[in-house]
Amino acid sequence: MVEETIFSKIIRREISADVVYQDELVTAFRDISPKAPTHVLIVLNVLVPTVNDLLPIHEESMGHLFTVALKIARSEGIAEDGYRLIINCNRHGGQEVNHIHMHLLGGRPLGPMLAY
Ligand code: AMP
Repeated sequence: MVEETIFSKIIRREISADVVYQDELVTAFRDISPKAPTHVLIVLNVLVPTVNDLLPIHEESMGHLFTVALKIARSEGIAEDGYRLIINCNRHGGQEVNHIHMHLLGGRPLGPMLAY
């Protein structure tokens, strides 16, 4: 049984979020607890809990995450300086919300890839 998270409600616009982009495959909104000047989450519209649950049918929408990330990076004005794209998986990856999402982070030098 796959349980919905708050992200499904944001996608359906049932609760408020700062949505910056939405199409038939993905929804992007600003992280409620930003770790950088730009911190946007790009979420699959269908509920797939983690990368471990991906199937070949998700390849189009997973690829779409990257082109939408680029579109948003350009619109945020951070594309040329650069940015970081992160997808966390499960406990060791630090995943808190079990609904696949890509973090788009930028707007300042982000430092080393891992804190420790
Ligand atoms: P992760 O640790 O990869 O699962 O990331 C989950 C992210 O979702 C965290 O950075 C949270 O700050 C963010 N988050 C949780 N609830 C909300 C919300 N209601 N609106 C926007 N971002 C959220």
